[in-house]
This record gives sequence, structure tokens and C-alpha cells, in this order.
Amino acid sequence: MNFQNKVVVVTGGTRGIGLETVRTFLEYGAKVILFGSRKETVINAINELEKEGKKAAGYYPNLNDYEEVLKTIQEIVTQYGKIDILINNAGISANKKIEETTSEEFTSIMNLNVEGVFNVSKAVIPFMKKENSGVILNTSSMVSFYGQPSGVGYPASKFAVNGITKSLARELAPFHIRVNAVAPGIINTDMVSSLPPEMIKPLIDKIPLNRMGTPRDIANAFLFLASDMASYITGVILPVDGAARN
Ligand code: NAD
Repeated sequence: MNFQNKVVVVTGGTRGIGLETVRTFLEYGAKVILFGSRKETVINAINELEKEGKKAAGYYPNLNDYEEVLKTIQEIVTQYGKIDILINNAGISANKKIEETTSEEFTSIMNLNVEGVFNVSKAVIPFMKKENSGVILNTSSMVSFYGQPSGVGYPASKFAVNGITKSLARELAPFHIRVNAVAPGIINTDMVSSLPPEMIKPLIDKIPLNRMGTPRDIANAFLFLASDMASYITGVILPVDGAARN
């Protein structure tokens, strides 16, 4: 796999799955631009990569402000000439019971996890159409197949991500733009380590591969789906979960 001269944008690229994805694409020769929610976290991520001898650029547009996203994407295209691969990875989760969840909390998950994917994709797609090629990859979740026992907004948002993935795959196929998603199971990142151990342990016990996934497991799936080896794969939600499906 060779990503020399490929320009990759990764949202939610400052930590966890996103940062590991940035790192992986850099290792395979791509030019990578990471997005984060704040200037400070973007700078920290770039500095962390720099210590490893890797060079990435970063921005922190408000993903719910389409005009701001578009301005950022236009700046990137002016500087790099194109965007080959977009990875919509930024996301937040939830675990409260429905009675304890406010409408504001529900809306804020949908805003980032769904409208954020819509806004960045909408801004990037015209530039991909111009090149008559491109790859859009979304971070879904295994809860997008079977839900979860609390935090209803989170699976709701990931079902929507699957809907966006399958629909855009059809809409954009005539322009040779492929659209797929990766559905991680339980991956060892901040998002998971903030959950109570009594919630995590029974979940690991049910994983046939008997371990949590690593951010690199997900980054490798993105790498494959972004590569020409996946040139006939579009509209797919790929489970990467150690067979923990139920
Ligand atoms: P994380 O919390 O470590 O990272 C989340 C990323 O999203 C960060 O880079 C952060 O900057 C960004 N982000 C958060 N709020 C934002 C906002 N308001 N605006 C812009 N960016 C924002 O989480 P992670 O575990 O690496 O999750 C990454 C993706 O993977 C998410 O979409 C998540 O739903 C999905 N996922 C994670 C797991 C898991 O087990 N960790 C499982 C399934 C799916």
C-alpha cells in the first residue's frame, strides 16, 4: 500500500482512534491534516507526532458551522491541491438512561456525530468530484447494529452514520468516490477508559478474541478501505470487533 501524494483529512484526529489513524497514514507516506475541537489539543497532537519524526498539519473548525468548515477545506485544497481521503471520525458517546438525558444532550450528540459528518462531507465532495475520485470513510460503531442498553443518542447517531454511508455510496459512485464505514467494537481509548469498569469487564468477557481492540486495529481497517485494494468496495459498514457481535 502506497499513499505517497495522497492528501488525507481526519476529523477527531487529536487522540484515540483518530490520532492513531493520522499516525498510520503518515507512516504510509500520506500528507495528513488533522482536525480537533480546540487549538490546544490540535497543537498537542502535532507536537506528539513531531516527537516521533512525523509531520502533520491541523485545524479546529466548528464542525457544526458549515461556512467555517468550507473555509477550512478551501484553505487545505489551496495549499495541497486536492483532498483524496476524508475520514469522518470525530464523535462523542453517551451512557445515561433516557430519563436522565436532556434534549440538549441528545441534540449535541446528533450535532457532532451526524451533522458534523454531513457538513465536512458536503464541503469536501465538490473537490473530489473535480478529481473524479475520492474516498470517504466514517467511524460508525458496533452499537449501530444492535443498540446499547443506555445512552440512546449514541447508537441513534451511529445508525444515522450508516445511513449517510450507504446513501452517499450510491450518490457518489458515478463520480468514482467510494464511501464506507468502520464499526469498531470496544477499542481502548479515552472514550472507553472513562466508562465504569463494571460496564467494560462483562463486555470484554463476551469478545471471542478475548481482548479490547486497539486504535491501530481501526486505523488498519481505514488504511485498507482507503487503498486501491478496496477499489470495488463501497457502501459497506465493516465490523472490527473481535467477533463480539450479538
Ligand atoms: P476520543 O474521545 O479519544 O476522541 C474523540 C475525537 O473527537 C477527539 O479527537 C476530539 O477532538 C474529537 N471531538 C470531540 N468532540 C468534538 C467536537 N465537539 N468537535 C470536533 N471534534 C470533536 O474517542 P475515540 O474512542 O477515539 O472515538 C473516535 C470515534 O470512534 C468516535 O466517532 C467514536 O464514536 C468511535 N467509536 C469508538 C469506540 C471505542 O471503543 N473507543 C467504539 C466505537 C466507535
